[in-house]
Amino acid sequence: MNTCDCHHKTDVRFSDYYSENILTWCTNCGNYGIQAAIKRALVAENIPPCRTLLCFDVGCHGNGADKIGGYRFHGIHGRVLAFACGASVANRKIKVIAFGGDGGTLGEGINHLVSAIRGNYDITFVLHNNLNYGLTTGQASATTKSGIKMNSSPDGVTSDPIHVMNFVFSLNPSFVARTFSGDVKHMSGIFQESIKHNGFSFIEVLQSCPSYNHMTPHQWYQSRVKDVTQMSGYNFRDIKAARQAAEDLEVQIAIGVLYQNSKSVPFMQRQANRLKVSGDLVDEVKVFPTEKLFDTFR
Ligand code: SF4
Repeated sequence: MNTCDCHHKTDVRFSDYYSENILTWCTNCGNYGIQAAIKRALVAENIPPCRTLLCFDVGCHGNGADKIGGYRFHGIHGRVLAFACGASVANRKIKVIAFGGDGGTLGEGINHLVSAIRGNYDITFVLHNNLNYGLTTGQASATTKSGIKMNSSPDGVTSDPIHVMNFVFSLNPSFVARTFSGDVKHMSGIFQESIKHNGFSFIEVLQSCPSYNHMTPHQWYQSRVKDVTQMSGYNFRDIKAARQAAEDLEVQIAIGVLYQNSKSVPFMQRQANRLKVSGDLVDEVKVFPTEKLFDTFR
C-alpha cells in the first residue's frame, strides 16, 4: 500500500497513468520505450500520479507530455530544469521527474543543467540523447557527431560534439547513469534507482531516432552497450573510474548506474534557514495573505 492520502488507497497500477491521447512519434522511435519504462518504474515504486510531477521540455519527447496521466508540465525550450528544480524545492512530498532532449539541454538550456547538478536538487532528470533536433526535422545539435550531414548542415557538421558524460562528471554530480532506449527493462531499473536517490539524478538515455539519426541506429547501440555490473571489479562509488568507463562512445559503451555518491546531500538539506522548518514552501504560500501584499502597492 502506498502512503498517498487522496483517492489512491491501493497499489499503483499502469492504468493509473493512462491517457486517452494517442502517441504520435515516428514508427520505432525510442521515445515509446522511454515512456513505457518511466510508467513501469513509477508503478514498481508504487508512486501514484498524485505524488509525482512529470516535467517535459520542448522536443520530440515533449509530445508525450499529454499522453501519460498525472500532474505534468510542458515548458519552454531548454528551461524544464529550472521549473522542475523549483517545484521540488517548493514541495518535497512529490517526486519530480524531468525530461529533456540533447538540443534543449545541452544547447539553449545548458546553464540550467549546470545549476541543477551543482545545486544537487532532489529530482530525476532523463536526457533523451538522440544526437539531433528531431522535432525540427533533423537539425544538428550539440551532440551530433562531426562531419555528419544533417538537414541544417548539408555539407556536414563542422563542430566537435559535447561529450555528455565528460561534461556532467566535471560538475561533481551525485548520481549518474546511462541506459539505452531499446531495453525497457534496463531503463525502468535505472529509473527506479534514480527515483530512490537523495539528490540530483542524471540519466542519459541513448535514444534511437530512426527518422533523422542514421549514424547510431538501434542495432548500432545494441551491439555496443554493456552494463557496468558485467565489468569485473567495477565500483560505482568511484567517480574517477566512472568517468573513465563513460568515456568510450564507439566500441564498448558503458550503461547502468555509473556513479552514485552515498553521502549526497540535496539542496534543501543544505539551506540553514529551512533546516528547522517542518513544512514545505508550498504550504506557506497557501496561507500567505496576498491581499496584504497587494495593499503595499496601493
Ligand atoms: Fe522520434 Fe526522431 Fe521521429 Fe522525433 S524525429 S519522433 S525522435 S524518430
